[in-house]
Amino acid sequence: MTLRSLTIIDVDAPKVRSKHVSKKSNHKKAKTSESFSGLPSNAEIQADIASYKKNKITNPNIINNTTQANPKKISEKKLVAKKTLRKKDRTNNSPRSTVAINSIKEPEKIYRTSNTPVLLSVSSQVKRHPLGHLLLEKKLREAGFQGGISTDKKFLDRYSTDESIFCIKPQVVIQPKNKHDLETATKLIASETKRFSSLSLTPRAAGTGLSGGSLTDSIVVDVTTHLTKIDEVKKTKKGVTITCEPGAMWQEVEKKLKKHGFYIPAYPSSKAICTVGGSIANNAAGPDSLRYGHCASWVDSLDVVLADGNTYTIKPLSYKEFKALTKQKNEYARVAEEVFTLIEKNEKTILSAKPKTAKNTAGYSLWDVFADGIAQFKKGNGEMDMTRLISGSQGTIGIISSITMRTLPIANDSTLLSVPIFKLEDIAKTVITTLKYNPLNIEIFDGISFDLALKNPDFFKKRLQGLDYYRVMLAMYATYHVRYRGKTPEFTLLITVDKTTEQKHSASEIAKEISDSSVKARVVNNPAEIEMLWQIRRASYPLAKFQDPNKRPAPFLEDMTVPPEHLSRFLMDIKKLFKEFNVQAAMHGHGGNGHFHFYPLLDFTNKTTPLLVERMAERFYSTAVKYHGDICGEHNDGIIRTPHLNKMFNRATLELFKKVEHIFDPDDIFNPGKKVNPRFDIKTSMRKTN
Ligand SMILES: Cc1cc2nc3c(=O)[nH]c(=O)nc-3n(C[C@H](O)[C@H](O)[C@H](O)COP(=O)(O)OP(=O)(O)OC[C@H]3O[C@@H](n4cnc5c(N)ncnc54)[C@H](O)[C@@H]3O)c2cc1C
Repeated sequence: MTLRSLTIIDVDAPKVRSKHVSKKSNHKKAKTSESFSGLPSNAEIQADIASYKKNKITNPNIINNTTQANPKKISEKKLVAKKTLRKKDRTNNSPRSTVAINSIKEPEKIYRTSNTPVLLSVSSQVKRHPLGHLLLEKKLREAGFQGGISTDKKFLDRYSTDESIFCIKPQVVIQPKNKHDLETATKLIASETKRFSSLSLTPRAAGTGLSGGSLTDSIVVDVTTHLTKIDEVKKTKKGVTITCEPGAMWQEVEKKLKKHGFYIPAYPSSKAICTVGGSIANNAAGPDSLRYGHCASWVDSLDVVLADGNTYTIKPLSYKEFKALTKQKNEYARVAEEVFTLIEKNEKTILSAKPKTAKNTAGYSLWDVFADGIAQFKKGNGEMDMTRLISGSQGTIGIISSITMRTLPIANDSTLLSVPIFKLEDIAKTVITTLKYNPLNIEIFDGISFDLALKNPDFFKKRLQGLDYYRVMLAMYATYHVRYRGKTPEFTLLITVDKTTEQKHSASEIAKEISDSSVKARVVNNPAEIEMLWQIRRASYPLAKFQDPNKRPAPFLEDMTVPPEHLSRFLMDIKKLFKEFNVQAAMHGHGGNGHFHFYPLLDFTNKTTPLLVERMAERFYSTAVKYHGDICGEHNDGIIRTPHLNKMFNRATLELFKKVEHIFDPDDIFNPGKKVNPRFDIKTSMRKTN
């Protein structure tokens, strides 16, 4: 296919999306090619291609990263734009996302027990016009974009997976050099999407997400190459805060804070490998979230590039500040006013939709925007906090360019209690009793993880140095053979208490209160035993691979959460389900929140695996919902859970999610297909390698 033959293709079919028109939005996307009047004609597009082709030949540097004087010196991570167009890219006009296998209608009931998948239907009408992506490099450079741009296969492959079970190849990867680049790219796509509707921007940070949030078949915006600046720690009226760019690694931010004795208590367990931006966008959480909540609870303010391509500082507003904002004529003012009206009109529906679990990242947290309710807000009490919508939005309503977080002093006074649970029915009452004492965290790992640790001592050699290794291994075997008399507990609970907890009750009093005829809680004093228990908790995910090296621990049942009172019955049902599907899965999680990460071992080279995933997801998610639980505690909806949100939320609430997404992103330029309007078919988008 020659470039010339592209000109016979008409403009893209419009993206399929909700019909809600935002009040002041005057740039709603056209529905048919006729309605594109006023937009460039085919002749103009042809001219664009001709000029693009000419530039390719006459000026081979035009698509290079102009900010790099010597491209050869660029590290592999930094992109060098490719100089030739590959035939495959030019001819690819049938993206995997166009395949709709599921035409099953949305269910009347929220919960069903049948084996038949009942998912939100996947849009089948998005067509890719390759031209939009082909012209992108030229257009971005013309608009002044300074960062890296690449369509090189090597890079596209690298960005086609994250830690989820999916594999979706982008068309282009860009690495913005600075905040101005983010604005330039957004402005360009906002205007070009009117003729090439398949163009969109999907922000990507460290790519450790487990739901597929950072995958796209259009443009990846990698924020980790350049947007990594971390400012100095500041002492403010609100306490110690820190500001950073979204690509800053969590651990680097933590190091800076640690020097002053502070930390961000919502840190995810993946803090060594993930960024602050990705964590805010996923509204991540971690062990200490039992007491201190998700990342969103620690956001002070966010700089966000909204759909008009301008950056706005979003922070909680008093009624007076809100009123002053709405007098302004800008995108932030429009969005704030429309969000206010949406919530005011639907407050009852929104509050009744709020999940019953302490942790949730499903949907948009409309219920958190007015913590004191709209009526109080209008009387001048409380705040309107739109950072609660941006946090956890997975890049679907704007791109975060700067983050200011609040912090807490590091608690250096913690004590660990260990509670082996040999009978499943004991788990709920143990957790509920422990919660009364306000522990810092209650973490959990299962018997499979413990057995795998016992069988694979060499695994810990890389993680522990010198004598520590032998001490920790000795503690592990002594615990198993002597303390547990050769019997592996079904679960082990790790309870951390600190000064706050012990103000009222000492650790040993709590251990006594938790213990009864079948449960024995104990304060752990031996540092090697403490290290051993945390090593197994943290290693549960990589250890799972030892069950079968030819399979892969698959994250798709890894985020279910139930209120603690239902823990025992929920876990019994889950155990039965794994038996029924004949699949093994190691488990760990945040027991105090009733939040579990199950990682079934699956073979992705097997053609039947996608169907198995679909069937398992249906049954397991329905089981979580049956116990008033949540399918998405902290890893967010992404590709895997967006089509299942109808299990947790009724139709009216799903409509409100669509409306709020549309208020922020009327032309669907930000990460389409996640959180609302599912667009990627789960089965055909699944990875095919282990
Ligand atoms: C071993 C392991 C353990 C984990 N443990 C935890 C845990 O304890 N708790 C937890 O919550 N998660 C956990 N995760 C999941 C994941 O690590 C976290 O959610 C993490 O915070 C994601 O950060 P990231 O930098 O990798 O973001 P990415 O995966 O790159 O992106 C996450 C989402 O954010 C969006 N995004 C990225 N940058 C921006 C931006 N600038 N603006 C707007 N949107 C943006 C992306 O589009 C995507 O939807 C774990 C993952 C692994 C592999």
